Amino acid sequence: MNSSHFKLLQLFIALICGWFLFTSNSYASQISAPLSQSVSQSNQSLTPIKVQINWNHQYQFAGFYAAIKNGYYQQAGLDVSIRDWKPGVSVADEVVSGNADFGVGKGRMIVDYAQGKPLKLIMASFQFSPLVLLAHEPVNDLSEFSGKSVMYDGGFQIESLLSKANAEVSNSIKVLKATGNIQDFVDKEVDFYAAYGTNEPSRLKQKGVPFYILDPKTYGVQTYGDFLVTSKKMAELRPGLVKAFKDASIKGWQYAITHQEDTVDFIMQNYSVVKSRDDMLAEAKATTQYVKTGTVPIGSIHAAKLLASAATARELKMINQAELDNLNINDFIFDDSKSLFTPEELEYLKANPVIKLASDRNWAPLEFEDPKSGFSGISADYFKLFEKKLGVQFQPVYLDSWDNVLKEAKRGELDVFSCAVETPERSQYMRFTEPYLSFPMALASKDMISFADKYSQLEGYTIAVVKGYWTEELMATQYPGVKLLKVDGVNEGLSAVLDGRADGYLGNLAVINYTLHKYGLEGLRIVGQFSERFELAIGVQKDNPILFSVIQKTLKLISQEQRDEIFNRWVRFELVNKLNPKQLLQIFIPVFVIVLSLLLLLLVYAYQKRQQKAYINEIHELSFASEINVKTLKILWSSASFAKLSGYTQEEMVGMPYLNLSWKSLEDEQIHRIYKLLTSGHSWNGEMHAKTKAGGEYWVELTLTPNKNLFGKVTTVLATRTDITDKKRIELLSITDELTGLYNRRHYNEVIERELRRAKREHYSLSLAMLDIDFFKMVNDSYGHPFGDQVLKDIAKQLTLSFNRGNDFVFRVGGEEFIVISSFESESKFVEHLHCLLESVQGLQIENKKAPFKVITISIGGLYLEADKELTEEDILKYLDQELYLAKENGRNRLEMHSFSEE
Ligand code: GH3
Ligand code: MG
Ligand code: MG
Repeated sequence: MNSSHFKLLQLFIALICGWFLFTSNSYASQISAPLSQSVSQSNQSLTPIKVQINWNHQYQFAGFYAAIKNGYYQQAGLDVSIRDWKPGVSVADEVVSGNADFGVGKGRMIVDYAQGKPLKLIMASFQFSPLVLLAHEPVNDLSEFSGKSVMYDGGFQIESLLSKANAEVSNSIKVLKATGNIQDFVDKEVDFYAAYGTNEPSRLKQKGVPFYILDPKTYGVQTYGDFLVTSKKMAELRPGLVKAFKDASIKGWQYAITHQEDTVDFIMQNYSVVKSRDDMLAEAKATTQYVKTGTVPIGSIHAAKLLASAATARELKMINQAELDNLNINDFIFDDSKSLFTPEELEYLKANPVIKLASDRNWAPLEFEDPKSGFSGISADYFKLFEKKLGVQFQPVYLDSWDNVLKEAKRGELDVFSCAVETPERSQYMRFTEPYLSFPMALASKDMISFADKYSQLEGYTIAVVKGYWTEELMATQYPGVKLLKVDGVNEGLSAVLDGRADGYLGNLAVINYTLHKYGLEGLRIVGQFSERFELAIGVQKDNPILFSVIQKTLKLISQEQRDEIFNRWVRFELVNKLNPKQLLQIFIPVFVIVLSLLLLLLVYAYQKRQQKAYINEIHELSFASEINVKTLKILWSSASFAKLSGYTQEEMVGMPYLNLSWKSLEDEQIHRIYKLLTSGHSWNGEMHAKTKAGGEYWVELTLTPNKNLFGKVTTVLATRTDITDKKRIELLSITDELTGLYNRRHYNEVIERELRRAKREHYSLSLAMLDIDFFKMVNDSYGHPFGDQVLKDIAKQLTLSFNRGNDFVFRVGGEEFIVISSFESESKFVEHLHCLLESVQGLQIENKKAPFKVITISIGGLYLEADKELTEEDILKYLDQELYLAKENGRNRLEMHSFSEE
């Protein structure tokens, strides 16, 4: 193992040991009964207290309801009522103005305080904020907030997130005031809806409404959630009341998270609740993890974390630099200790300036007598803090052995056990606080015992224990089969194992580690750890309840930060290399499992990616896909199937202008329309008549889907197709005139309807004409019917040549009668075009000897429909007919245009 691995291992062990200690501390903080008694006013009338919450009644405030339910507030002399939130209510203002005595507000309170609102922070219900944003679509990037609407009611988390988002959007974000009604989100009245991760998500799930969660934490925004605050005035004038409210609330929370169903039922029965019982139970489950995170005592506040929030607020310009500089976090946090002691207790402290400690002079690092600095170790550091807080002196009374210390304590000569395990024996004369230190029990051995995790495994061995230590009491009473070697101190016990007088030494892991290291006792290993732990507490003479109460309260005042600091000062981990292989395995197996799982995950990910790619390829082949560059309209790549359909190789397709594949050249205007649609991010779908390399034709139903690049710009288009050639052929048959190959009358009816609609929608003009061959009967008469048929074909051909653009249609609507639909930019251009047509038909020089012109001619009735001029299909036919008739009347081989002005 090289040194960096070793450091990692050290860190790991430190974390594990730290956890042991945290565990013990959290027990210590859960005692509250004796404290609330000190402020109890059960004999007087109760003080009415109003609490303003920041949402509808729900489990989010469970601790407060539970404290009401169980009479915790009542025991503290308080008659608490909880007021639910209405739109427009500011919790901070309610509290500052005195309308409410306490308020539950979001992490933003720190901003309010920095900006000068006279608030005091009592506790944080949630150790981190459950505020999230609900979205209808997944959000991958904050720029996606562009132009979107967000409904929220303050909330540091959300404001921080939105500030970040605002820096990245092109269109500003619309902010809507919270209505408190999730229906606004369900009805898509808003794009984003601020919600509690504990609440709305499970409700939406039950309703079956799809949603996505955007957690501000993923964007580095983090803070406490749900601060309990009061006004500065209240905290200064009635600190006892504030403290009592806090303790009862914490006790309420403790109850709420361990009795979720009871609490939910209580809330449902006593408050107007908008959600169902199941919703609330789901909320309860989700809430617990915010209230009790790891071993952090409920309600805890760390000044450092608050300060970090304030710094973030400054970064986001929610407060300015001066406000940050002037911020006195410690003044913001309500100080428990001011209200802590009863007059009786203060009196006692005054009268007893020196308190005698029963301490162990030889139990490093827990407590020991240092030649230079005297009373030292973990416990000594706690008592130094006590001295500062209480203004009295704690004086250790050292005797030659711990055994004698015990005897003196039992006789009542010593006031306090500074650091001891609570045993039945000791409990007869001392009352113990909750443990403030906790260490595993460990067994050190040379090679006599290879491994032990149960005491029964020690039977038959000689085990060294320190006289009077709890281990002696435990072994003697419960494991009589274990031979005990009683020694005076840890060092002696370990030496006894080294020189063979004992097979092992049983004691506290931290102490063994420390001693092995300090005295360089080579050759000993920790071979066992037991589920029982050394739970070390402070003991106070049973006949001195006042001192007990003082010690108990003071211990609770020691913050987690202070506890960590003391622990880290004394517990070192240089000895980790003495761990036995089993312990090493215990540490490394989880690490390996994690690393392995990560590797496995990576593999699965890579495999899925590959699968996904294969799947996409398959889809591309099935959908005749290709990709087109939006700028050049050239093909970037083509699926094999599409290349085959169009008769090229895949290589030939690359770089080919896509429009070359179209059967008829598309009109600029049409291309432009599709282009605009695609570049604005929409897809286009339509039929396309295309030609193969060999000149054959095919039909596809084409879907064009724009692809955006990283900056959200459309650069390429994915084209997918369905081959509809067969369908199209059948369709064509039904709309085609057999003789001429032109569209038939039936199709005219469909097309005219569609074109009229389109012209109206897209505001463009239509050009229409009805044509009839002059003196056609004479053709049949003179040359026979088959010749007549051929003439019809020739004329049809001439018409198609004349009207051959993308949106031109030519129909044979009767025997020798035709209609064309086209679009010309002006009536004069259309008229010009029709005159050309008259000439070109005559120019065909098809003989019709009986007719006055001697050759085939046609007559035309025309109609130019300006953009936005609306006509019915019937009117169109009527006008065309009228004009054609006129053309015949006026001599044939001519054009008559309908004029709207003459109507
Ligand atoms: P005008 O229109 O100039 O007044 O005179 P016209 O001789 O063309 O008039 P009319 O509409 O009376 O005659 C149309 C003729 O077209 C009648 C019919 O015999 C002929 N015809 C209609 N359908 C076909 C066809 O499919 N093949 C052939 N060969 N002749 C047809
Ligand atoms: Mg005719
Ligand atoms: Mg006719």
